[in-house]
Amino acid sequence: MLKDLFQSPDYFQVDDLLTAEHLLVRDTVRQWVKKEISPIIEDACQQATFPSQIIKGLGELGCFGPTIPQEYGGGGMDHIAYGLMMQELERGDSGVRSTASVQGSLVMYPIFTFGSEEQKRKFLPKLASGEWMGCFGLTEPDHGSDPSSMITNFRDAGDDYVVLNGAKMWISNAPFAQIAVVWAKDEAGVIRGIIVERGMEGFTTPETKGKWSLRASATGELVFDNVKVPKANILPNVKGLKGPLSCLSSARYGIAWGVVGAAMDCYDAALRYSKERIQFDKPIGAFQLTQKKLAEMITEITKAQLMNWRLGVLKNEGKATPAQISMAKRNSCEIATKIARDARSMLGGMGITGEYPIMRHMMNLESVITYEGTHEIHLLITGQDITGLDAFH
Ligand SMILES: Cc1cc2nc3c(=O)[nH]c(=O)nc-3n(C[C@H](O)[C@H](O)[C@H](O)COP(=O)(O)OP(=O)(O)OC[C@H]3O[C@@H](n4cnc5c(N)ncnc54)[C@H](O)[C@@H]3O)c2cc1C
Repeated sequence: MLKDLFQSPDYFQVDDLLTAEHLLVRDTVRQWVKKEISPIIEDACQQATFPSQIIKGLGELGCFGPTIPQEYGGGGMDHIAYGLMMQELERGDSGVRSTASVQGSLVMYPIFTFGSEEQKRKFLPKLASGEWMGCFGLTEPDHGSDPSSMITNFRDAGDDYVVLNGAKMWISNAPFAQIAVVWAKDEAGVIRGIIVERGMEGFTTPETKGKWSLRASATGELVFDNVKVPKANILPNVKGLKGPLSCLSSARYGIAWGVVGAAMDCYDAALRYSKERIQFDKPIGAFQLTQKKLAEMITEITKAQLMNWRLGVLKNEGKATPAQISMAKRNSCEIATKIARDARSMLGGMGITGEYPIMRHMMNLESVITYEGTHEIHLLITGQDITGLDAFH
């Protein structure tokens, strides 16, 4: 693989809006990605294996639960620092960012926000360090965009236990996770969060094979066949769909930042190539059609950087709404997907090889634009927010 020559675009001096701590966090993760991810990621994707050796480093960097308070092992950082971390990880690879997003936003966040003190003390420090990995089970084989129709359920089995049945599909980190935060209905049909631990009888996590996208992230099913789960593992402080949806808001926020990292990497690689590749006796960057692509890429990256920064400020102030987060997730995914495709075309035949990161980003982004709410669902969220009218049903 070629040396990682990435140089971050910052056309509107967005760095001036960041604090010294933000810059330090961002640059630390950036250097780590250059050293630990860039040299191995192409091979991991070609082999479709999750590079488990990176877990320790991600934990040490504080990428698992950066906004969780330090007393529970988290980073105690603000949301802009969290966003910048996700941007840098996804600049490396969307699968790496996904691993961190799931751990922080979809596993640690619900335990921290809805868990008992005992659950927080038992699980959070080990999850923050990466000693334990977690996954988040919401999607089912027959219920994706409409999770309220889920059929995974549990029934009471005496004073101490419930019995869980059902199946979840498309679950990131499932094949190796020690715990799963699972969303299931109780006997009254109310959605509850429940922590299922590897080793519980009747709980299996078969791996999903054959993906052409997010190949460095392990994906699997969660199958529950009469699994006896202690009642102490039920998250006590949330009932209903708002539990999983608030986790998704936190993860979507990270994605809004993350995919801009992937877009920046594609733009950077294409810009450099356009100055080096000679056709018709000129660098291809001298042709107007190429400049149009590059100019539009940097314009969209700049707009997304500014939107993310503003969203981060609102989130730090506790004012960011789920609909604003939806808009940013949707916008970032859209521009990143287009930038990856245009960048790929600019490299001609080289664009489809693993010599450059672009094709890998392009394929990864097809998952990212789909998970945590599809592109269509986020548009409907914005539509509902501005009109007050529900177009989902
Ligand atoms: C690599 C990967 C990792 C994932 N990781 C996780 C994870 O860790 N945990 C987890 O719980 N889930 C995970 N998911 C699942 C993901 O969140 C779902 O795939 C996603 O929510 C879409 O659900 P679906 O695939 O069932 O598609 P469907 O809901 O069947 O949608 C199919 C199509 O119909 C459209 N559609 C649906 N409803 C409407 C509507 N009302 N109006 C207009 N269009 C509509 C959708 O936009 C889409 O284009 C992952 C998915 C992938 C691909």
